[in-house]
Amino acid sequence: MVKGNDMAQTFGFDLLATDGRARTGRISTPRGDIRTPAFMPVGTAATVKAMMPESVAATGADILLGNTYHLMLRPTAERIASLGGLHKFMNWDKPILTDSGGFQVMSLADLRKLTEDGVTFKSHIDGSKHMLSPERSMEIQKLLGSDIVMCFDECPALPADKARIAQSMELSMRWAKRSRDAFGDRPGYALFGIQQGGLEEDLRAQSAEALRDIGFEGYAVGGLAVGEGQEAMFGCLDFAPEQLPKDKPRYLMGVGKPDDIVGAVKRGIDMMDCVLPSRSGRTGQVFTRHGVVNIKNARHADDPRPLDEQCSCPACQKYSRAYLHHVYRSQEMISGMLLTWHNLHYFQQIMQEMRDAIAEQRFDVWEKGFHEGRAQGDIEPL
Ligand SMILES: [Zn+2]
Repeated sequence: MVKGNDMAQTFGFDLLATDGRARTGRISTPRGDIRTPAFMPVGTAATVKAMMPESVAATGADILLGNTYHLMLRPTAERIASLGGLHKFMNWDKPILTDSGGFQVMSLADLRKLTEDGVTFKSHIDGSKHMLSPERSMEIQKLLGSDIVMCFDECPALPADKARIAQSMELSMRWAKRSRDAFGDRPGYALFGIQQGGLEEDLRAQSAEALRDIGFEGYAVGGLAVGEGQEAMFGCLDFAPEQLPKDKPRYLMGVGKPDDIVGAVKRGIDMMDCVLPSRSGRTGQVFTRHGVVNIKNARHADDPRPLDEQCSCPACQKYSRAYLHHVYRSQEMISGMLLTWHNLHYFQQIMQEMRDAIAEQRFDVWEKGFHEGRAQGDIEPL
């Protein structure tokens, strides 16, 4: 028996160090390890927009996220499966997490109809009729070949009254059980449950208990970053992650800005995803150690300095602010490419610094420096 090979075929999580409630660890999958806390770039339509997959990996990403809703509509999960799965299709051989499609059906699709069974809706692309249920979502995510599969759930927009949030959470827990049953036994692949319950501590606790009873390889804190604001989100994260099992990864969905990410890690979150670094890269918004830089601003037109002289990304190493300003104003494609690269690099840099700080028990000191740097603001204009 080759024990080492057996190990490599399983999904696992090792918690390596904690500092306060912040955690650092390692998720192991047959497609490679994911260092936590981890930031997952979003590759909605089988691409992280404006980035080659090898460039995404070069920024330090161990895993990326794909969107079930978009991929099921175009090019369809069946087509991707017949072409060898999502990893091969998009030339990304590291782990992929896919969402369940539930959230985007609610935010993007037309003529939605929600029942106990699932959701029927019309495609926002061509009006064609589709259905998503726990069973169909599991089937699609399996066809894609996703390494980390998310339960199909329902998430009410906040604010909502407590009765509505409770009703929605209870439906999501019934769907979580159906997702678990439909997922079946797939060694090397993981199914994550999603905690719901809005900002209510008792509903979150009920949801966590229901998920624990079913049993998952990881747990997400769902239903946040939906318009409640940072203070309310942090208030919820003061109790929600602690209600979930300590020995499994905890994933905060759809977060966020750099200070949201740091505050979430501080409160015990291990994984996050957000379109912000890539989307902002295409609209000229740059995240740096010294806060946000707007590259379209005229002050950069004659500035030969890099975005950040300490950043090792190609945009900062090889190009001036003047050039980045020029290609943005000229609507050249390289603008989105370079600014997205920088933003993803910066987000991954924060994650690496937090992993190191937690391992060395100096997260508080690191966090103080992070906030001081951002409060400084951008360098003075020339
Ligand atoms: Zn850079």
